[in-house]
Amino acid sequence: MAEKRDYYEVLGVDKNADEQQIKKAYWKLAKKYHPDVNPGDKAAEESFKEANEAYEVLSDKEKRQRYDTMGHAGVDPSAGFGGFQGGFNLDLDDLFSSIFGGFGGFGGYGTQTGRRQGPARGANLRYRMNLDFMEAAFGTEREITIRKNDRCQTCDGQGTADKSKPATCGTCHGTGQVQTRQQTMFGQMMTTRPCPECHGAGTKITNPCSDCGGSGIKEKTKRLQVTVPAGINEGEMLTLRGEGEPGQNGGSYGDLYIEIGIRPHPVFTRLGYTTMCDVPITFVQAAVGAEISVPTIDGTETFKLREGTQPGEQFVLKNKGIPVIGRQNQRGDHRFTVTLEVPKRLNSQQKDMLKAFEETTSDENYQMRKSFIDKVKGIFTK
Ligand SMILES: [Zn+2]
Ligand SMILES: [Zn+2]
Repeated sequence: MAEKRDYYEVLGVDKNADEQQIKKAYWKLAKKYHPDVNPGDKAAEESFKEANEAYEVLSDKEKRQRYDTMGHAGVDPSAGFGGFQGGFNLDLDDLFSSIFGGFGGFGGYGTQTGRRQGPARGANLRYRMNLDFMEAAFGTEREITIRKNDRCQTCDGQGTADKSKPATCGTCHGTGQVQTRQQTMFGQMMTTRPCPECHGAGTKITNPCSDCGGSGIKEKTKRLQVTVPAGINEGEMLTLRGEGEPGQNGGSYGDLYIEIGIRPHPVFTRLGYTTMCDVPITFVQAAVGAEISVPTIDGTETFKLREGTQPGEQFVLKNKGIPVIGRQNQRGDHRFTVTLEVPKRLNSQQKDMLKAFEETTSDENYQMRKSFIDKVKGIFTK
């Protein structure tokens, strides 16, 4: 028999390691070297056994103490200490769930790793749909094409050539798992692992469907008609019930979630159901008032601008915004902000006219300016 490695060295822990550290180190090795993760790998199998052995001793206070004082001889059953009592049960389910946990969606068809599962709902699917601003405002019909796993049509999802229910696996009697007992020099070791015959399914197909190879699942392209309601907004989700992937063991289909994106519009923005835009006006329109055209999502509206309108002033057109989702005849408002454009590249005649105009003005015409000048004066006369 080859020289045994030090158990602390095997687990890669310090001699003073506590229970938790030992357990952690062991699990790391167990995951790495488990025979089901390394099928046919002799070296991995040896490392796995070695780790089990080390853990068996170091996880037991009494055995660890004997090992610490007497070395391997202290825990060698042939040295008269009675060996190890009880089985050693490493549940592969737990191992796998810790390896694959968090990957989401793992455990699909033919990849069940643990005990046989009851009906499981199919996975939900996500689809991103980008709409134009107006499509989102007024709703639209869209046909989308998705690729997804679905029940095989040929065998009705049974996986069998004659559409019959698959027979119960004779090896595991439908439980999907088998236990292996091994008599080792350290006593009995028991491992639970997926049934090698049915790979954990608990059922066995002897006459597989030629179309899906017995999985009962086929990837397919599906066209779906989607009704997008008026008023939908960026980031909102439409749910198509039952359009996700099929469930397992008789479970229902998952759902398809359609996440909405909205492309920006050259003129409008929106905040909830309120639409907004800027409307540039001339300084003459602002001064004397005017009828201006204001764009809304329905078309242009005529708006009477009163005289003396200031730049940045905001106006509201009631009920001219986005239809409220699911509510007939209810809409948000349209808000527009006037921006004032100062004319450029004036000819000399125009400039003369403006200068002549300026001569005629007084503080009465420019009250904001007057009040500002008064405040500035106040600073220096105190
Ligand atoms: Zn089986
Ligand atoms: Zn099939």
